[in-house]
Formats: sequence, structure tokens, C-alpha cells
Amino acid sequence: MNPLILPGATLGVIGGGQLGRMFVHAAQRLGYFTAVLDPDPQSPAGRVSHHHIPFGYNDAQGLAQLAAQCDAITTEFENVPAAALQTLAASRPVAPSAAAVAIAQDRIQEKSHLMASAAEAGALAGVRCAPYAVITTPEQLQAVPADLLPGILKTARMGYDGKGQVRVKDAAQLADAWAELEQVHCVLEKLLPLKAECSVIVARGWNGDIVSFAPQRNVHLDGILAVTHAYEGNMPAALSERAFAATKTIANHIDYVGVLCVEFFVIDDGSENGALIVNEMAPRPHNSGHYTLDACDVSQFDLQVHAMAGLPLPAPRQHSPAIMLNLLGDGWFGAEGQARAPDWPAVLALPGTHLHLYGKTEARAGRKMGHLTVTGADVASVQATARRAAEILGLPGFGFASP
Ligand code: ADP
Ligand code: MG
Repeated sequence: MNPLILPGATLGVIGGGQLGRMFVHAAQRLGYFTAVLDPDPQSPAGRVSHHHIPFGYNDAQGLAQLAAQCDAITTEFENVPAAALQTLAASRPVAPSAAAVAIAQDRIQEKSHLMASAAEAGALAGVRCAPYAVITTPEQLQAVPADLLPGILKTARMGYDGKGQVRVKDAAQLADAWAELEQVHCVLEKLLPLKAECSVIVARGWNGDIVSFAPQRNVHLDGILAVTHAYEGNMPAALSERAFAATKTIANHIDYVGVLCVEFFVIDDGSENGALIVNEMAPRPHNSGHYTLDACDVSQFDLQVHAMAGLPLPAPRQHSPAIMLNLLGDGWFGAEGQARAPDWPAVLALPGTHLHLYGKTEARAGRKMGHLTVTGADVASVQATARRAAEILGLPGFGFASP
């Protein structure tokens, strides 16, 4: 099936967060009408969409309205019930598919898929997952090999931004952590010595066409993305090529349609560049691709619109080096905890700054409120401006040196 849904039609998105909001902006710019399914009347995407359907992601009435109003449907987060996508797919093109989302929303299934992709493809030779064990029963907990410790216990479902993860040093801490997580299905991953992290974003069409952005280098803080470096030389070229080949294989393997992001670790294995470890995949546009809005001639959100609508997928061209800083709610509070807005005029006075705020009324520590992309003529000036913006915003000024 290769639908062709032209501007003037209505595109629907399940989930009303910032990814949905930026998707809606891209769809509207192309002349589509939009509908957002989200129970929150103040949701970032619902507020800017032509239609907002204020129901839960699993609500039969809400899903029926979405199907009735939309010509094609996508999702902006991986925890939407796969069954809901399945239901919608009976009457409308849905991208990504319920099957792809079901894999991405369960770390146990996701790891099997990533391992199977790795085993199948020659291009993937040497790209591995972190050593891990599945823990769903007390017997599996007992049987965890000692060499997986110290490790990170991760819930199989509903984790994001480092939530649902506990670092454990030994078997006793592991048992305590699993009890604390109420013995839900988990994976234990070996704690790896990370040299760097990167991600690759591809868009794949119904006909199997695939285009990609160059790999981004990402810096995380407390499990949450803090900074994305997107410019030539951000990664050793050999690693970038292998990360792209791996991502393509992973997308093809499940006949993926839409924008897909795959996250990688680079670990120290004694070699010059280090080894690539595939971490996880996100079946949607990704925080590490927000810079594409301002630094590329076509953004990850544009490509999501193209892919789901069956439009051609132009290969993106990055026209400016870029650094993206995530703006978390922590920046909305002063040293004594008093609420205050960040100094936007000072940030906006800097050359090449692109401020994106998601319209969230309540700031909370760790909550993604917006992001700032810095573009410029060359990497050195982008780094200098990003460092200055980080100082003004009280963000940790790490990671702006050349890799
Ligand atoms: P989430 O779904 O919350 O993004 P991730 O599995 O990507 O979960 O973990 C979040 C971050 O935690 C990673 O980007 C990385 O910085 C760190 N991390 C996760 N797994 C490991 C690991 N096995 N070894 C070292 N660091 C890890
Ligand atoms: Mg992650």
C-alpha cells in the first residue's frame, strides 16, 4: 500500500507533547489540516492544532473521532497502546505501524529485534547491544551472571528520559531495585564505559525509500538529553557510516514507515575510534533531531509528514553547523528556588540563536520546556555562542570543546 495524501487533507497525531506540536507546525506549513488526540486540554500540540480531540490514547470514542477526521495517522510517543494503532489501521494509513511501535515500547522485544538485525546484516558486523539479561521472574533474578554487574536495571516498558532506571553495583542492590520497581518486567544491562553517545535519524517511505540526517553526537545528563552536536567532524567518519548502515538495516528489517531514531553508545574497546553499541530506537522524530528545524533544508518533522502522506522523501542537506541545548524546567527557578523566567532577551541577542518554547505553562525540574538551537557560519563560532548561551541560562557548560 502506498497512499498519496495531498495537502488539504487532515493528518492526525496521537499525543499532544512537543514532538506533536512541531509535527503539527510542519504539517500546517504544507497546507494540511491537523488533529491531535490527547486528554490534556492544555497540551502543547493540542493548542496549535486545528482540531484537538480531548480523550485518552486508548479511548474508543477518541480513536473513532480521530479515524473519522483524519486521512492518515501517526504518533509522537512510543507508549501509545499498540492496540490503538492496530484499530486505527483497519480504516486509515497509520505510520509507524502498530507492530513497529510494539517493538520499540518493550525493551525486551526491542533488544531481540536489534540483535536479530545485527545478526542478519553484514553491514552491522561488530555493532552489538550492551550485554544484558531479561528479568521477569525471581529465578531469572537469581541467575543473573555476575559479569553484568555493576549494571543498570531498566523497566521493559514506559521508560523515558532515564525514568524507570536504577543503577546497581551488586546482586543485593539488584534485588532491592527490582523489589522497588515492584518486580515488573525488566532488563539488566551491564554499565558500559561510554566514550560518547550518538544517534541516527532516518525517514523511510511506504515504498522502502530511505533518507538520513548525518549522525548527531549527544550529551546526556542524569539520563536526559542535554546537548546535541550536529556538524562535520562531530564523530569519526568510520563510526558515522557504520551507525547509518545499522540504522538502515534496523528500519528495513521491520518495514518501518516514518521517522525513526536509533541511539548508539561509543565505548572504549582499545581501538582508535571505539566500538559502536546500539542502545535503543524511538519510532518517531527525536529530541536529538530538533536542530534540523533550523540547520537543515528539510526537518525531521517535514520528513515525518512526507513519509506518512506518501510524498517523496528528499535527502536532507544541512546548511549550517549547529548545537542544540535542551531547556529543562530547572532553568525557570532561581538559586533560592523562586520561580523566574530565564533571561530570554540576553539569549536572543546572541547571533544565530533559535529559541523554541513548547507553550507549557508549568515548569518542573527535569521537564522539557523548550530547546535552543545555535547555528553559525563555522563550528568555532557556534561553539562560542552555545557556551555563552549556556552561561546565561545557567546550564552546565560542558561538551562544547571539539570532540
Ligand atoms: P531512555 O529510554 O530513558 O532514553 P536509555 O536506555 O537511552 O533510556 O538510557 C538513558 C541514558 O542513560 C543513556 O543515554 C546513557 O547516557 C545512560 N545509559 C543507559 N544505559 C547505559 C549503559 N548500559 N551503560 C552506560 N550508560 C548507560
Ligand atoms: Mg535513550
